[in-house]
Amino acid sequence: MTTTERTELPTADDLRVQVRQAFESVGATVTLGPPGAHPAGVPASTPITGDVLFTIAEDSPEQVDTAIAEATQAFSIWRTTPAPVRGALVARLGELLVEHKAALAALVTIEAGKIVSEALGEVQEMIDICQFAVGLSRQLYGRTIASERPGHRLMETWHPLGVVGVITAFNFPVAVWAWNTAVALVCGDTVVWKPSELTPLTAIACQALIERAASDVGAPASVSRLVLGGRELGERLVDDPRVALLSATGSVRMGREVGPRVAARFGKVLLELGGNNAAVVTPSADLDLAVRAIVFSAAGTAGQRCTTLRRLIAHSSVADELVSRIVAAYRSLPIGVPGADGTLVGPLIHARAYRDMVGALDQARADGGEVFGGERNDMGDEAAYYVAPAVVRMPAQTAVVHNETFAPILYVLTYDSLDEAIALNNEVPQGLSSAIFTTDVREAERFLGADGSDCGIANVNIGTSGAEIGGAFGGEKQTGGGRESGSDAWKAYMRRATNTVNYSSELPLAQGVHFG
Ligand code: NAD
Repeated sequence: MTTTERTELPTADDLRVQVRQAFESVGATVTLGPPGAHPAGVPASTPITGDVLFTIAEDSPEQVDTAIAEATQAFSIWRTTPAPVRGALVARLGELLVEHKAALAALVTIEAGKIVSEALGEVQEMIDICQFAVGLSRQLYGRTIASERPGHRLMETWHPLGVVGVITAFNFPVAVWAWNTAVALVCGDTVVWKPSELTPLTAIACQALIERAASDVGAPASVSRLVLGGRELGERLVDDPRVALLSATGSVRMGREVGPRVAARFGKVLLELGGNNAAVVTPSADLDLAVRAIVFSAAGTAGQRCTTLRRLIAHSSVADELVSRIVAAYRSLPIGVPGADGTLVGPLIHARAYRDMVGALDQARADGGEVFGGERNDMGDEAAYYVAPAVVRMPAQTAVVHNETFAPILYVLTYDSLDEAIALNNEVPQGLSSAIFTTDVREAERFLGADGSDCGIANVNIGTSGAEIGGAFGGEKQTGGGRESGSDAWKAYMRRATNTVNYSSELPLAQGVHFG
């Protein structure tokens, strides 16, 4: 039912040439072996054609230990380097990102399948967080608090934590590293990064840039280290007591494994996990605006954002019109090669993502759902998974709707009272992003209030995806409770000390206690 643009797929060799050009641009020197070159190698593949483009040597567990040891050593210098001097490193990284924006974005497109505009946007997000972190490097502050004792000063100071282990997901292969690393570095921490095994090329390119930035400003070379490989390497970071904070982004399944293990060694953990985001559309909504926002949030990035809109909670008076307008918009969405001009929806990441999508749609039908779209077009390549985004009218919020299926499926539910809409919004176990479309200030304020949306992000008249870096990013419940990026998210990367200084010659005790 949906128009798929039949832009011709590039060949794997075309893509290999683009990768080599991007590597040359950023100065990455890691050996790119042919597919299958290293027996225990990480395959660097592309969802554009489904091909393995290169094989890269995987790091051994011993190499992870070495990376942690080197980052620990660098921390001993970095933690006492003045924060504004640390900011100079992040400023240089930001300059290099500006210079190599196109090359890095090309790798994001090849590895994650993002359309050009979204890939450039992801690199822009890295630049934005660098700018934010540079400013932050002169604003790391603690409070001075009124002491109850004469001649005493009570204050809090913030100190670097140590090594931050960063584990990232495939769908934001570079931005999430930058969110963590830019802030961690100005906070005086050092970083060991384990990227998704699906996106090693973008990670190698980022590593080349941070190493160059460190060399340019004279920072220790090991302030940020990279380890390439699968979850077993991530588990080394999880279990290593030298890793003071583990910041892990990925599925709820991953967070369920990682969270208790870090807690068992009393490490700090910052979890950014799956979402199941909803938008409420009320009778007063501007439907033109709502449809545009819904289509971007639900179909953009082929439904592969943690903040993707997965549930539309439409008032019964607008549901029919809304669904027919979304279905019409979906019909005209150009789906195809993400690097081609005009494409708005690229491929799913791999076969499993497609199988999950088919399984969810089958279940939704069995639950009484009416499905529009969702067809696959392999563009003449069996290993590539291009799909039409699907809209599913559901009679109720069944178990399949409670799950995050990482594909472009938008379930539509209807409601009659705002209480009912908010209850539907909050019923799922995840709590990342949410939105309400309304021109009624009472409805908007209710949605943002204490008895409104229970998510970490609640928006009015914009979609659920596409957050700015200035705000803290993260979600509640099974989304993990972590906050990254802007606002005061930096506090997760530092330790707080409460200091009491007695500058009198008396020794009054707190709470009026007398002792001897
Ligand atoms: P995933 O959970 O399969 O993998 C994420 C990362 O965790 C990978 O680097 C993987 O190697 C590692 N990993 C997996 N199991 C591990 C374990 N037991 N110990 C240590 N490391 C482990 O996720 P994915 O498929 O790459 O990404 C999609 C998921 O990520 C979705 O659920 C999406 O919502 C979520 N996500 C969340 C955010 C957020 O900020 N909340 C951002 C992006 C993606």
